[in-house]
Amino acid sequence: MPTALKLRYYGDPVLRQCASPVDSVGPSERFFIQEMIRAMYEFEGAGLAAPQVGVERQIFVADAGDGPFVVINPEIVEASTEQAVMEEGCLSLPKIRINIKRPSVIRVRYLDGNGRRVERVLSGLLARIFQHESDHLFARLLIDYATDAEREKFQPQLARLEALSRDMWKTPA
Ligand code: ZN
Repeated sequence: MPTALKLRYYGDPVLRQCASPVDSVGPSERFFIQEMIRAMYEFEGAGLAAPQVGVERQIFVADAGDGPFVVINPEIVEASTEQAVMEEGCLSLPKIRINIKRPSVIRVRYLDGNGRRVERVLSGLLARIFQHESDHLFARLLIDYATDAEREKFQPQLARLEALSRDMWKTPA
């Protein structure tokens, strides 16, 4: 059965609202997280944040190539001064790729899918995905990192996505 979760695109106001922390991980949170994991694989993304399916809660799921990774209430407590540039894409901004410079190594705190407190150091792709998905929970999108030239180049696609997001909620006359 395909996922019932609906992917939100650039222009949808939910992507520009900060998500609320999760107080406790109970059956409804676990169910939602399973649905998000299913949706991430169905949409073929390396990560999916709750606002991208219209839910303003601090939850994201990711897979950097070694299975699903569940993060609740993420905090980046320390970041390396060393930075790396990597090209990023986003399910909510299809056909847009932006080179983004971010810290290569981060120390993070979060709750896992069972509500247990975790503190660990991430590097490589996982550090990258963690930062991209955390951005979603604080209303930041990859296009915010674009240079003026990139923004100009992607303007037609951004306009298409904004129109799509408007049509999604239009009630038939
Ligand atoms: Zn994204």
